[in-house]
Amino acid sequence: MFEDHSANQIAAELNQVQHYDPQYTGALSMLDEATLRWTLRHPVLSAPQNAFSQARYRQKPTLANQGRDQQQAWADVVTAAEALALALRPYGDEQLQFCGVRSVYGTCHGLVHDGPCTRSDNHVND
Ligand SMILES: [Zn+2]
Repeated sequence: MFEDHSANQIAAELNQVQHYDPQYTGALSMLDEATLRWTLRHPVLSAPQNAFSQARYRQKPTLANQGRDQQQAWADVVTAAEALALALRPYGDEQLQFCGVRSVYGTCHGLVHDGPCTRSDNHVND
């Protein structure tokens, strides 16, 4: 998910988090995964990405937990998402490039950019 999204497109999605239903944690999980891949390409994104990841783990909506703590936890998720969006914006139209060769796990899908695949150890050599 989000693999063909540019930095700007992922940032735009992060800016939508404020409109998400806090119960729908699946979308946050996908954004967490997608932005984690960007930290491999741009390590400077690690701090805001980690903050977002931590905030979403603290935010665990349940029917028994809808009080003020939960509201604060959700506010923290939105704040962290906005900060991560801001950090991604400078990369604009850039997209991550994924490796398409065969690996022991199927299509490799490691990151490639001006260098060897990050998962070349798994490549299958015909
Ligand atoms: Zn590869």
